[in-house]
Amino acid sequence: MPPTDTAGLTDPLARRLFRRAFGLFISFAVLLTLVLVGETLWQARKNLQGELAIYQRTFEKPLAAALWAMDHEKLHSLVQGIIEIPDIKGVRILEPTGEREIVRAGRIARQDDEDGHALAHRFNVIHDEGFGSEFVARAELHSSFGQLFERTRRQIVLIAVLATLKTAALWWIFLLVGRNILGRPLSEIGQAMAVAGAVRSLSLSKETERAIAGTELDLLRQAHDRLAEHAGAVQAQLERSNHELEQRVRARTAQLEEANRRLDALAHTDSLTGLSNRRHFLSAAHDAVARARRGARPLALIVCDIDQFKRVNDLHGHAAGDRAIIHVADCLRDAVREIDLVTRFGGDEFAILMPDIATGEAAAAAQRLCRRVEAAPLALDDGSTLALTLSIGVAELEEGDTRVEEVLLRADERLYQAKREGRNRVVDGMPRAGSVRT
Ligand code: GH3
Ligand code: MG
Repeated sequence: MPPTDTAGLTDPLARRLFRRAFGLFISFAVLLTLVLVGETLWQARKNLQGELAIYQRTFEKPLAAALWAMDHEKLHSLVQGIIEIPDIKGVRILEPTGEREIVRAGRIARQDDEDGHALAHRFNVIHDEGFGSEFVARAELHSSFGQLFERTRRQIVLIAVLATLKTAALWWIFLLVGRNILGRPLSEIGQAMAVAGAVRSLSLSKETERAIAGTELDLLRQAHDRLAEHAGAVQAQLERSNHELEQRVRARTAQLEEANRRLDALAHTDSLTGLSNRRHFLSAAHDAVARARRGARPLALIVCDIDQFKRVNDLHGHAAGDRAIIHVADCLRDAVREIDLVTRFGGDEFAILMPDIATGEAAAAAQRLCRRVEAAPLALDDGSTLALTLSIGVAELEEGDTRVEEVLLRADERLYQAKREGRNRVVDGMPRAGSVRT
């Protein structure tokens, strides 16, 4: 299960959601609480007014009697008694015309204030003697907003505290639930996606599985899993295709390498005789000279040319001439060692590279070649035979030779010497019977 880590989040979704929602909720809560407080105050004011009206009924008669009797002392003591009632903060008795005050005690609200609120109760004091009633004064019982608040303080504080507690509890509950069903699962899904990448389905904790079951998050997870499954299939298909492609490339590369090898061999081979050609000979001879010089080992070169070959062509045709060249090539190939490189140098001329051959051995080998070709005439189609001879020049790698061309030049010179001296012979650098030393 991937760990649930919200440390990297600067503003988790659950917190942002509920911050916004609760911004609105708190505004409403404050508004509703104010309405409730207003209603409480309104109700309290109505109650207060009702109570002031009850006080009217209590004090109306004694006041009327005192006023009728013009008993000021009694009137004053009555008024004092009235303002000692906690709800009553001021009392005023006016003449029936309302123009002059008879008595006044406590705090009396100004006339304009009285219009603004109804915390004063006014009534007509009527004296009733049994034979008739007389309007003797106007009376006012004043209360105050302070008194109103005093009466409702407990209720208002309770409303405010309950509203605050309700909001805080709701905030906390929603934040907690939001974290559990939205924040934490979302965060875990995000991390599981990072771990699973695009090709594996999400691995979620049981707790998160439960929290997202049947929700949009579950849809999100299923969508990811389907996508991952599809991506996995595509990847597998890609891998298969890749594998097939690699196999095809390998097979094609092998074919190409084989073709290259064949081409390389063709490029190095003389098509008529199958021997290596001049280019290959020169490159191999360069390497052989370098190796021989490094290891101070012997190396010899033999160059041969078929004698009077033009006449073969002239007398027997070009095809017979070709067969004669092939015949000589075979003779040479059969007569040398495995490590010697026999080459058709061009036309009726051949060269043989002989590495690690002891001094004088090359001249002896050249003699054997000369005798072998001489002793093996070519059988022609008409049953006759064609005698062939070679002129051969031999040269060994000498101190001071740095390039194969120097050795080749000496061998060539000796070949032409052999030609000049009558052909069918070997000219080398060694004094030997049957050969000519230059
Ligand atoms: P020499 O003894 O002085 O070497 O006389 P030669 O007649 O052999 O003279 P040379 O070596 O100069 O002549 C080589 C001839 O070989 C010339 C050419 O017509 C012939 N020739 C070269 N390449 C081929 C080939 O591939 N096939 C055939 N049939 N003839 C070739
Ligand atoms: Mg020739």
